[in-house]
Amino acid sequence: MPKIDYKHSAQQLQKIGLKVTPARLTLLSVLQTHRQPQTISDIKKQLKKTRIDLVTIYRNVELFAKIGIVKKALIRDNEAFYEYNSTHHHHLVCQSCGRIEDFEGCNTRNLIEKALKQSQYFNSIKEHSLELFGLCKTCAS
Ligand SMILES: [Zn+2]
Ligand SMILES: [Zn+2]
Ligand SMILES: [Zn+2]
Repeated sequence: MPKIDYKHSAQQLQKIGLKVTPARLTLLSVLQTHRQPQTISDIKKQLKKTRIDLVTIYRNVELFAKIGIVKKALIRDNEAFYEYNSTHHHHLVCQSCGRIEDFEGCNTRNLIEKALKQSQYFNSIKEHSLELFGLCKTCAS
């Protein structure tokens, strides 16, 4: 596992007014160092050596998502994935093995305009998430 920057994580928690607890620090550090979308059980696996239980993990990553330091996405099977919210990006997802890859370069402006034009009930879009599904090179060959 990469080196964890506890100091940076603590500063982040304080900045948003959250009490710094060991569990929160550890969780945030795991999300910061492992920059791939992870499920609660992925996160749990990385915390095997700690006493942090599933409920604590779930509650805190949901809290992080609510305040925006973590992004939540429903990538497959309606399972929630969480990742540290750094730069705006989207995901390519392999439908066979579940591999997830980031891609940058967001081109949703036209799509949003179209959606709003068609919409009866909405007049603004605040955020979006976008996942593209296909086969990775390993699974395709
Ligand atoms: Zn694959
Ligand atoms: Zn990502
Ligand atoms: Zn985007």
